[in-house]
Amino acid sequence: MSWIVLESVTKRFSNVVAVNKVNLQIERQDFFTLLGPSGCGKTTTLRLIAGLEFPDEGKIYIAQRDVTMELPKNRNVAMVFQNYALYPHMTVRENIAYPLLVRKVPKKEIERKVAFVAESLQISDLLERYPQQISGGQQQRVALARAVIQTPNVFLLDEPLSNLDAKLRIEARSFLKRLSMELGTSVVYVTHDQSEAMALSTKIAVMNQGHVLQVGTPRQIYDTPANTFVASFIGNPPMNIVECRFDGPACILDGQKIDLSELALIEFPKERGFIGIRPENIALNTKEGDLVGEVYVVEPLGFETVVTVKVNMNSLRVLVFEDVPYRSGDRIFLKFRKDKLHVFDEN
Ligand code: ADP
Ligand code: MG
Repeated sequence: MSWIVLESVTKRFSNVVAVNKVNLQIERQDFFTLLGPSGCGKTTTLRLIAGLEFPDEGKIYIAQRDVTMELPKNRNVAMVFQNYALYPHMTVRENIAYPLLVRKVPKKEIERKVAFVAESLQISDLLERYPQQISGGQQQRVALARAVIQTPNVFLLDEPLSNLDAKLRIEARSFLKRLSMELGTSVVYVTHDQSEAMALSTKIAVMNQGHVLQVGTPRQIYDTPANTFVASFIGNPPMNIVECRFDGPACILDGQKIDLSELALIEFPKERGFIGIRPENIALNTKEGDLVGEVYVVEPLGFETVVTVKVNMNSLRVLVFEDVPYRSGDRIFLKFRKDKLHVFDEN
């Protein structure tokens, strides 16, 4: 049995189904991320694992034990919230020590552990300050310190980096990844940021409207998305997804026929469907290709350039890794890497 198991878990708030028949299997060594748009049920799922909510249906197991109706204190979980929730009237030292104090751990051991955790999180010189006397990034480290000083069955982190500015968020992300490798137990992480999920996770569960749509490694989710929602949620810029008419091993887009016979192994949609292709898997040139369109706009980003091409009503983004000679209004051909082309038969 996996370390954490959710078995067909459903949670309703009056007429909203926040979490809908969710099944998850999380291993002890996993950095497991719940990824999805705002309101899809990520926080509720985390709170169900913590015991801060109880499911209407289904079962939850932690460390081989049925904890479905157990209170948080009987689950041995550590949770870090989006807003850190440090105690303002306690020093940093007291904040970090608090979980051990309530468990009546001997004073000497508390001192030793606080010193060790503060050292590894590089906040030793802040121990006598109050939360309002330190920066947002430092507060976030204190919140993490308070979590990692425990030896829980699982660390539950709900968007712990979302209050940080962009630069600090990238730094904290690397730090969190290193830290998680040393925690020795599973982390269940919540974010709506696909790049954060890709960078940190061993496994990602993509959620939408209370459902888990796909679970896999970052590579699996990126390379073989199960449907158009997952495909368009992952990647930056996201995968191009275009509706078209299928005609055997070919699709027709605005009257232009794209030969897909190289993809002979997959089943093609009967009538209408979607093709998906990531921006880095399209090449541009002025002579020939799979589709012809018009350059809409060129956006140089330093290392890469994003070229948006209009093919009638459709916009396709192309990622190019050199300077491009094209300008808005130019007629341009798109050539697809056929081995990287996806076909979806639903929206
Ligand atoms: P996420 O964390 O992915 O943004 P949530 O789990 O917070 O999503 O919310 C999922 C859905 O459940 C949303 O529609 C939200 O409005 C609803 N919801 C969450 N908590 C409550 C609550 N305590 N009372 C009523 N509705 C709630
Ligand atoms: Mg949330």
